[in-house]
Amino acid sequence: MSNIIVLALGGNALGNDPQEQKEAVRHTSKSIVDLIEAGNQVILSHGNGPQVGMINLAMDAASKSEAGTPEMPFPECGAMSQGYIGYHLQNAIQNELKLRGIKKSVATVITQVVVDKNDPAFQNPTKPVGSFYTKEEAEIMTAKGFTFKEDAGRGYRRVVPSPKPIDIVEIDFIKSLVDKGNIVIAAGGGGIPVVEEADGLTGIPAVIDKDFTTAKLAELVDADSLIILTAVEKVAVKYGKPEQLWLSELTVEEAQKYIIDKEFAEGSMLPKVRAAISFATSKTGRKTLITSLEKAADGLAGKTGTWIISGEGHTK
Ligand code: ADP
Ligand code: MG
Repeated sequence: MSNIIVLALGGNALGNDPQEQKEAVRHTSKSIVDLIEAGNQVILSHGNGPQVGMINLAMDAASKSEAGTPEMPFPECGAMSQGYIGYHLQNAIQNELKLRGIKKSVATVITQVVVDKNDPAFQNPTKPVGSFYTKEEAEIMTAKGFTFKEDAGRGYRRVVPSPKPIDIVEIDFIKSLVDKGNIVIAAGGGGIPVVEEADGLTGIPAVIDKDFTTAKLAELVDADSLIILTAVEKVAVKYGKPEQLWLSELTVEEAQKYIIDKEFAEGSMLPKVRAAISFATSKTGRKTLITSLEKAADGLAGKTGTWIISGEGHTK
C-alpha cells in the first residue's frame, strides 16, 4: 500500500492574477510531482481567500455596472474559485507528470462540505468578504439581510460565518478516484458550505477554514499524513520575537498548551495547529507536517518542518 498524503496549499501562495497563478502553480507542481514520483498517493486541497475575493469583487462590480450581470451568490463564487484554481493545478500537474513519463490522471472535484445549521459560528460572522462599502451602502445591504462590520477604519465590509466542516458530500467519489491511483484536487477554499434543508443540501454564504476541511478530508480518506504547506518552514513559539524558537516536533498535549498560551496567531497558524490536533486525535498514528512547499520532501524525510503527532508512544 502506498502512503496516502493529503496536501494543503496556502491560498496566498497562488499569486494575485491568472498569470501569476499559472507561474506559481507550475513551480508548485514540481514539488507535488516529486512526492508522487517518490511513490506517495497525493490528494490536494488549497486555499482560495484572495481568489474568491477577486471573483466576488468582479461579479459585484459587473452587477452594478451597465453590464448589469446578475448578482452572484457567495457559494457560487466559491465554486468558481475551485474551478479556476483547480484548472491551473490540474493543467500544471498533468504537464509535469507527462514530462517525467508518469502515467496518472489528475482532476478537480468541485466539493461541497456539510456544516451544522446550529454551529455557534452563525451567531457571530467573522470572515470579511468582498469590497468596502460606505456606512450608507452597508445599511441598505444590512436591510436586505447581509451582515456588515467596520473594517479597521477603511469602511464597511460584509462578514460571513466560519462554521466547522462536518462531512464532505463527494467523499465516496473522491475515495474511488484515489483508490484507482488518480490524483485528486478537492475541497478547495475549505469547500462550498452546504446545510441540510427539507428539500436537500443547500449552499450558504459562509467560509469554512481550508485547514479544518483539509484535516476532515485527510481523516475521511484515511490518509497516513496531512501536510499543510504555507509560507514558513516551521512552526515557532514566541513567533517574531527575539526569543523565537522553531519547533521540529510537537505532541498534541504540547500543542494544546501552546494554544492556551496564545503562541499561534488566530486566522493564520492557529487553524493549522488545530487542524493537526483534530487529525492526530481522530486515529492513532495520524500525523501532520507543517512546512513550506520547498521543504515538503525534506520535511517528509524528517529533516525539517514541524510534525504534530499524538502523544502516544512518547515517554515523558
Ligand atoms: P496560508 O495561506 O498558508 O493558510 P496563513 O497566512 O494563513 O497562510 O498562515 C501562515 C502564517 O502564519 C505564516 O506565514 C506566519 O507568518 C504566521 N504565523 C503566525 N503564528 C506563527 C507561529 N507561531 N509560527 C509560525 N508562523 C506563524
Ligand atoms: Mg490561512
